[in-house]
Amino acid sequence: MEERVKQIKQQLSSHSYKLTPQREATVRVLLENEQDHLSAEDVYLLVKDKSPEIGLATVYRTLELLSDLSIIHKLNFGDGVTRYEFRAADADHHHHHLYCLHCGTVDEITDDWLGAIEKRVEKEFDFQIIDHRLTFHGICYRCKGQVKDPKKLVGSKVT
Ligand SMILES: [Zn+2]
Ligand SMILES: [Zn+2]
Ligand SMILES: [Zn+2]
Repeated sequence: MEERVKQIKQQLSSHSYKLTPQREATVRVLLENEQDHLSAEDVYLLVKDKSPEIGLATVYRTLELLSDLSIIHKLNFGDGVTRYEFRAADADHHHHHLYCLHCGTVDEITDDWLGAIEKRVEKEFDFQIIDHRLTFHGICYRCKGQVKDPKKLVGSKVT
């Protein structure tokens, strides 16, 4: 944790930004909840717990700054909520997402199953792939059995 905070501090300072106490509080919340794909409001509520003086606008600006610098990245699952997560600095492959249309939970698949598909696309379309995103939209194991008409969820939320 301290190591990563230090690393982010360096990333900010290499772009002439300081890790102010407000920014640090935001970064720590993101690190502590790394698996959770938090929205700006989620982050704000968690930051506020520890630093009640921080406003939503400050948290929001910090998230924008961190994503401008590619320290975190934004995720959109078509529900109108922007979520944030860290880029794994060491991994050349980010993970894939399972987005539940019923409860909005985002789970992760860390294995990359797309190697063969990438090769095929590169060959058939003469397209050099640098990255890919993959999100499955559906109903998670927690919500299984609670949804009567799954097709309706698709129409309402997927864009
Ligand atoms: Zn669910
Ligand atoms: Zn993720
Ligand atoms: Zn992948």
